[in-house]
Amino acid sequence: MTKYQGGCLCGAVRYRAEVAPINERVCHCRICQKAIGAAFNARLLFRIDDVTVEGEVATVNSSPDLKRGFCAACGATLF
Ligand SMILES: [Zn+2]
Ligand SMILES: [Zn+2]
Repeated sequence: MTKYQGGCLCGAVRYRAEVAPINERVCHCRICQKAIGAAFNARLLFRIDDVTVEGEVATVNSSPDLKRGFCAACGATLF
């Protein structure tokens, strides 16, 4: 059974992971607030090799060291 799975608003992108996340956090930083459009960003951290992604993901750098991923079709924030 898949442990973690989800996707975007339109269904073009799906992701899943079979392992436990490295950590779980709720981030209240200003960049997360702007990226998510909410007061905080509740997120899980996985090694990229542990996550299977299907569909087209677009990315944008929100800071020099951090890329954020979103669905290229519907724009929903994913990673
Ligand atoms: Zn989508
Ligand atoms: Zn943050």
